[in-house]
Amino acid sequence: MITREKSPTLLRNTLLAGTTLILAAVFLAGMNHARTTIERTVHLVAVSRVEDWTAHMLDKHISVVRDFGKAPLSRDEVADLRKEAEVYGLAAFRIAPASEPLGRLRMYARNTFELPSHVAARLFAQADNGQPAGFVRVTLPLRTEDNRVVGHIIAMVNENRLRQELVRSLQRVALLLALAMGIIIAAAAYLLRAVQKDALHHISRAREKDEVTGLPNENAFKRFCERWTDASAETAAPHAFLVVGMDNIGRIACAEGHEAAGHVLRTLAGRFARLAHAHDAHVFRLQRNDFAIILPVPAPGRHEARMFAQKLLKEARRPIYWRGRSLTASISIGITFYPAQATSPTELVRQATLMREAARDSCGDAVRMYDREMDRKYHATANLERLLHKAARNCARHFTLHFQPIVRLADETLHGFEVLLRMHDDNGDIISPAAFIPVAERLNLMDEIGAHVLAEACTTATEWPQHLHVAVNLSPRQFESGRLATTVEKALESSGLSPSRLELEVTENILMSDWERVRQQLDHVRTRGVSLVLDDFGTGYSSMSYLWKFNFDKIKIDRSFTQAVSRSEEARSILRSLIVMARTLKLPLVVEGVETLEQAAFLRKFRCDYAQGYYYGRPMPAHEVPAVILRDWQRRQELANGRPATGTGEAISA
Ligand code: C2E
Ligand code: CA
Ligand code: CA
Repeated sequence: MITREKSPTLLRNTLLAGTTLILAAVFLAGMNHARTTIERTVHLVAVSRVEDWTAHMLDKHISVVRDFGKAPLSRDEVADLRKEAEVYGLAAFRIAPASEPLGRLRMYARNTFELPSHVAARLFAQADNGQPAGFVRVTLPLRTEDNRVVGHIIAMVNENRLRQELVRSLQRVALLLALAMGIIIAAAAYLLRAVQKDALHHISRAREKDEVTGLPNENAFKRFCERWTDASAETAAPHAFLVVGMDNIGRIACAEGHEAAGHVLRTLAGRFARLAHAHDAHVFRLQRNDFAIILPVPAPGRHEARMFAQKLLKEARRPIYWRGRSLTASISIGITFYPAQATSPTELVRQATLMREAARDSCGDAVRMYDREMDRKYHATANLERLLHKAARNCARHFTLHFQPIVRLADETLHGFEVLLRMHDDNGDIISPAAFIPVAERLNLMDEIGAHVLAEACTTATEWPQHLHVAVNLSPRQFESGRLATTVEKALESSGLSPSRLELEVTENILMSDWERVRQQLDHVRTRGVSLVLDDFGTGYSSMSYLWKFNFDKIKIDRSFTQAVSRSEEARSILRSLIVMARTLKLPLVVEGVETLEQAAFLRKFRCDYAQGYYYGRPMPAHEVPAVILRDWQRRQELANGRPATGTGEAISA
């Protein structure tokens, strides 16, 4: 809102400042002109005084004029002239015969302002050189009746009073003008502001309408919510808040064109608006293709909201005709409640949108009410995603490898360790791979994480005795970039681990993707001497068919089979047949999830090759591995010396 009003305000202020500047300039120029006019007026008045005086002289003292320059004036004549000149407002004057150059003022009258004689003297001295301040010097020819110029009159006229009078009037006029201008500018500012406000109001109204559907848009929604959510939570009237999303608008746009999609949106908007109107509800079109509906309900309102949602679904299912074709919109609806679940517009939209997405992704239920547990899970996943992005950038800091012993069942000596990844959250707590690997796969982070695991595992294994193997799990996503062979190569090279000590465990989902691509990469690592293990065997839909597709070096039977051994005869016979099958294929078999002596005994009895499980040892951090290796070494010594060694899992894991 602020940014929107910023530029008109700037424009308005610039306009006002510009006008004020222009007016001020015009005002100053006017004042200047008025001053010049005052000076000119004062001069004209002075000239007319001197003219009057000259006329008077020619009338009354014609003899003085006529005989001027011939005989000196008597004292009385001079005194008379002075007195009369004073009456005419002349401060001083001099009459010079025509033959004489205009020289010093010789004769003067006392001015009307009682000019002391020494000041007058100075004044006349100045007058000879120009014009003294406050006085006007006037020079006029003296003409006789027959228009003969007999001399000149040079007079000093004091027009100070007139000038001051005029300046004072000018000042008054200026003040009035400035005041009027101020008022005009203020009025203009006020008017401009009002016009701007009005314009902004119109613009924002225009901005609050969705162009496609004609419904109030997101801006209108926000403004509405500001008023609506103003009430405190206790006094607020309960409302259901619905987000209605168009699930197939993209498909309609692709198949029928954007015009058709617009038509569908418009039609739905019209239907929803009518329905909303009948329920005193408000409909808005939000961004993307979502509608928001605010529906007053009696608390708790779940039933009413669901009924309303069903009506919306019914409206959406009615066919929409476009150029003779019938189109059907599919929508999903998320609902939350104000103020029971949320009081802020942002939170209401978030909750309802989350539920709408859950409704869209669920098969069947097109309406979802707010569910705190789902929200919590959503937050947990979002946190996990954030953490994974961070962790993938700094694997060494956020991931540690745990190692679980794999034993040869015949003599229960160590074959090696399976590497199991652990992630640390910000509090240092450990997160299980079952929780984060699927998310990392979805976020396409398995390339970086997998490369780190491989490199770290190979390096750690070089610290163990040469006969021990290390098994690393691979994600199907690691085959997608086509870089797997290079990653394995790098890990082997930088660690110096013999490829024959490395086993790669893959599940059968990798075989379901682009098989040729996967096979090439598997072939490549296998030709380097790395073993390939088919993990979780028996859990997939078509395990057998995949077994033929690739020559695995080992198969690993899923722990669910092992754990069922103690439960039923059926499970035992399935496990038995899996063992037989592996033997027929001449494939070594690892059975995982061995937790009890009974399970271990069963597997040994059926001459299974390798076993792994809590009975033989839990996954452990790298620093605990040497102790296990040492115990295994002691056990091998005992066996070599023909002494009966403890034939149980405790021998390793104790
Ligand atoms: P998995 O490859 O089947 O690994 C065996 C899982 O069974 C491990 O779970 C292990 O801790 C658990 N386990 C071992 N012995 C027993 C037992 O006796 N009883 C029971 N109940 N469980 C046992 P974990 O460590 O939670 O790993 C889960 C899955 O995460 C692994 O299943 C594997 O698919 C995946 N994973 C672990 N590390 C990595 C990795 O570095 N890369 C990839 N791509 N996946 C990994
Ligand atoms: Ca595994
Ligand atoms: Ca497994």
